[in-house]
Amino acid sequence: MDLTVCASKLARERFTAVPEIRIKGEMAAGSNMIDLEFLKILGCPLHPERPPFEQKGDYLVCTVAHHGFPVVDGIPHLLPEDVILEERLKELLSGN
Ligand SMILES: [Zn+2]
Repeated sequence: MDLTVCASKLARERFTAVPEIRIKGEMAAGSNMIDLEFLKILGCPLHPERPPFEQKGDYLVCTVAHHGFPVVDGIPHLLPEDVILEERLKELLSGN
């Protein structure tokens, strides 16, 4: 087995949760629900201690600071610049 095969096999094993979620998202059109087991390993990137998220609608909400990150096509967008501040997130969640 060459190195490329090894690396891709490793990547597949390490990130199995992601393709499964993507497939589910495609099958259930418009579903942005994150698998609970996957949600457990995610943490808010804006704090060194990486606090857990809870999912509200199409957003993952930081349980410490209550800001959120969008889930697009079943994929959480967790870059610091994707953050949605608490006030705006409340508006989005109430449909405004
Ligand atoms: Zn946070």
